[in-house]
Amino acid sequence: MNPPANLILHNANIITLDESRPRATATAIRGNRIAAVGTDADIFSQKGPKAEVIDCQGKTVVPGFNDAHCHPIALAASLLAVDCGPAAVRSIADIQEAIHRRAGQTPKDCWVRATGYNEFYLAEKRHPNRRDLDTAAPEHPVKLSHRSGHACVLNSKALELLEISAETEEPPGGMMERDLDTGEPNGLLFEMNTLVDGRIPPLTEGELETGIKLVNEAFLANGITSLQDATWNNSAGRWQSLRRLKERGALLPRVSMMTGADALEERPSFSQGSSADDLRLGPVKIIIQAVTGSLNPPQAELIQLVLRVHGMGLQLAFHVDEAGTLEAALTALELALRKAPQPNHRHRLEHCSVCPPHLMKRLKETNAMVVTQPPFIYYSGERYLATVPPGDLDWLYAIGSLRAGGIRVAASSDAPVVPFNPLVGICAAVTRTTASGQTLLLHESISAMEALQAYTIDAAYAGFEDNSKGSITPGKLADLVVLSSDPTTVPPDQIREIQVLTTILDGKVVWQK
Ligand SMILES: [Zn+2]
Repeated sequence: MNPPANLILHNANIITLDESRPRATATAIRGNRIAAVGTDADIFSQKGPKAEVIDCQGKTVVPGFNDAHCHPIALAASLLAVDCGPAAVRSIADIQEAIHRRAGQTPKDCWVRATGYNEFYLAEKRHPNRRDLDTAAPEHPVKLSHRSGHACVLNSKALELLEISAETEEPPGGMMERDLDTGEPNGLLFEMNTLVDGRIPPLTEGELETGIKLVNEAFLANGITSLQDATWNNSAGRWQSLRRLKERGALLPRVSMMTGADALEERPSFSQGSSADDLRLGPVKIIIQAVTGSLNPPQAELIQLVLRVHGMGLQLAFHVDEAGTLEAALTALELALRKAPQPNHRHRLEHCSVCPPHLMKRLKETNAMVVTQPPFIYYSGERYLATVPPGDLDWLYAIGSLRAGGIRVAASSDAPVVPFNPLVGICAAVTRTTASGQTLLLHESISAMEALQAYTIDAAYAGFEDNSKGSITPGKLADLVVLSSDPTTVPPDQIREIQVLTTILDGKVVWQK
């Protein structure tokens, strides 16, 4: 006879995401695992004398959400930074006012960090420049990050401190806007974050912990019990700080951390001494870009890297967001798989934003999967409709076609690029509606159940964790979310209004509305 359960959820509409028993009304949890799933009568027979019982009053229970691609440390920094996102500011004047206010509360030699602006949503329809920021904060160094994470604006004080001037040469793939006569930078920098962040003092340990606690609270309030950190330059230092934050209880969701290719050699020494369910290593991330028309890394170099990582038996995660870079990744993967076939490689294409049919066919043949970002449809769809060229727009976030073509798709937010509420993502994947009410490729819509899969079991699959999470199945980790309504039965455009009522992580209630 099994020991009794210590937590019971009953009177619930449980969507298990487990094909062998798709629906149930009750579940029993023993320790940090799901012990049983069934009817109220089945489950009450397992109740221990001291068991906590939660009457769900007919509400819906789903597995904890898994954000398969996000950047928790950058998110922590952005939650501490001045919010210049489209919901907070409408013009460069608003940005100036917000930065001016923060500078007033910041000691003179400390950096003012601001984030989230997107010129498309600003009244002036242009990027701010150093002069705009000088007006707002003449005496503080200021860094204003673009919402994409691929550009930033520095004021004069910041440029001076970082020693960026007319003489500075752009790194490969980077670009600075300059005055045509003097060559003086105007403060707007593209793809130069490595250089900039390398010279700006990082957040202190205390700031980082404050920021991560905000991330923790926000993720749990949104039912996210697992996250996959897709930061390209993660290495030993990042692993150690995540571990410290976890040990101090500052970050409760389970973390899988990708590393960059630079950390290949040191990877094996990372994970010692940490619980694999709590903090584990994810795939090796490779960013492929075609900023100035040429591939970075070049195809031959990419092939060598992919052969090496695949040959080590490691999973790959390619950042590809246009057809050309997707093709480069597929060319390298096809070669690697021909040389060393491996049926269960689960290599991932992150974003895979533009996927025309001929590449989709090759993608299917490699048996790789896609990690997509449905919230982009909602938050950035209006901009895509206005700016993406027609040839690409036809295949943008083609989630329906990918699934119909037999390609596994996991979902994620890429936060802090856009907000991370999974119900907004599920809603966008189903309705294909943008925040302004336009529709982006309605025929690429998927069902609410399929979108739920993408945020749970398929996200777990993407992390090689589908045996321990992603569905409400006896034996799996007890990570569950109680929702105010059933996403599969409410009118689709109301899915994003659904509230998370309770979040259970590792068998414990960690958040309650
Ligand atoms: Zn990302």
